[in-house]
Amino acid sequence: MFNGRYGIDKLNTAMIFSALAVSVINVLVPDVTASYIFSIISTALIVFTVFRMFSKNYTKRHMELQWYLKTETSVKQWWWGVRAKFLNLKEKSKYRYYTCPRCLQKLRVPKGKGKIRVTCTKCGNKFETRS
Ligand SMILES: [Zn+2]
Repeated sequence: MFNGRYGIDKLNTAMIFSALAVSVINVLVPDVTASYIFSIISTALIVFTVFRMFSKNYTKRHMELQWYLKTETSVKQWWWGVRAKFLNLKEKSKYRYYTCPRCLQKLRVPKGKGKIRVTCTKCGNKFETRS
């Protein structure tokens, strides 16, 4: 049956899983119009997957796969960027930043320690502050 047919690739697998995910969302959404749209999307995904599986046009299917892989990579990169930003913010909220009054070196101090004595890492200047 798969003789000369394109079969399964990463894009087909992704589309089947997306169709499943959309169907699950569809069950959870009570709105009729949204539900209608979701069923169209999941049906279209399945139809397109089946079409690609039985297709004999390897060149076109391969181009679609390349497009998908490229898109997946950029989405992943975007996601890692968002994640890094978020982790950076979380890290920042744990610390308080001071500037040494003598040499203007930026100093990082843990938050919520009460009154503390800060020693400048650059010039050794000591000053008291609240964190
Ligand atoms: Zn200093």
